[in-house]
Amino acid sequence: MPVETTGILEVMPVGRFAPSPTGRLHLGNLRTAVLAWLYARSDESPFLLRFEDLDTAAVRAEHYRTQADDLAALGLDWDEPTISQSDHLDRYRDALDRLRSADLVYPCFCSRREIREAASAPNRSHAGHHYPGTCADLDTAQRARRSEDRPAALRVRADGIRVGVIDELLGPIAIELDDFVVQRNDGTPAYHLAVVVDDAAQSVEEVVRGADLAESACRQLLLYELLDLTPRPRYVHVPLMLAANGDRLAKRHGAVSLDDRRRRGETAAEVLAFLASTIGLADPGEPITTAELRARFDRDRFREQVDRSPTLLPDDFLT
Ligand SMILES: [Zn+2]
Repeated sequence: MPVETTGILEVMPVGRFAPSPTGRLHLGNLRTAVLAWLYARSDESPFLLRFEDLDTAAVRAEHYRTQADDLAALGLDWDEPTISQSDHLDRYRDALDRLRSADLVYPCFCSRREIREAASAPNRSHAGHHYPGTCADLDTAQRARRSEDRPAALRVRADGIRVGVIDELLGPIAIELDDFVVQRNDGTPAYHLAVVVDDAAQSVEEVVRGADLAESACRQLLLYELLDLTPRPRYVHVPLMLAANGDRLAKRHGAVSLDDRRRRGETAAEVLAFLASTIGLADPGEPITTAELRARFDRDRFREQVDRSPTLLPDDFLT
């Protein structure tokens, strides 16, 4: 939290790591966590751990503990409180109510298939997951009729607005926003909404996370705007660590978790040293601790030197 001293507001940018407890953290998650920790702790800033556990079908109870244990085994620490999103449903409901009463959201009855088909229709310039606005202007009678078939998700009226952020590593990122989902049709608050509400509630001022979420920052900035939330965080989207073929790391690739690596006889310290070596923070094979990394980490030097492309782990490293 910001610390107030006599008349001066000394800003200590709060950082965080926010995993979903759906499985063991893989090496890529662990490296992102190390970087998020380094960005915060090298400035002696608070660092928070938050479990993003709203997708209850995917959450596994044991992984709150395995994930925290693995982070601690690498030498990372964090400040209290550690929160779980499932304990804060009221926050998201309040935010959704505010969007609803300002008429900034609308119910969407489309199935995934309908969206796919509408988005790829020949008269549409948007491809892929881009929502074409099918339900944006339904009247009350049409809504009532469609709600008989399926429950509605809620989408924010983004209306194709172009939103940009400046990322510390990637530079300017700007995209045209489609009307994205802020509440899923089972009533669960959607990822972008929950992240923004929590980051604001926890005064998070710097978001360090994987580069796959870079464009999410634009969607999230729109929600900061619409909900009039502060502080607006600074973004650092760090390179991903992927399998040799460019796929996200997963169990099927072999020894991807700290647990797996230990079973092959590696210590947590060796895994940390390896992760650090892949982003130029240690020499290959050089033993290193988190305390040494923190002393060595310099965000400006890192920005100048880090390879922005994903780190591909060779098959023979994992299998
Ligand atoms: Zn729709």
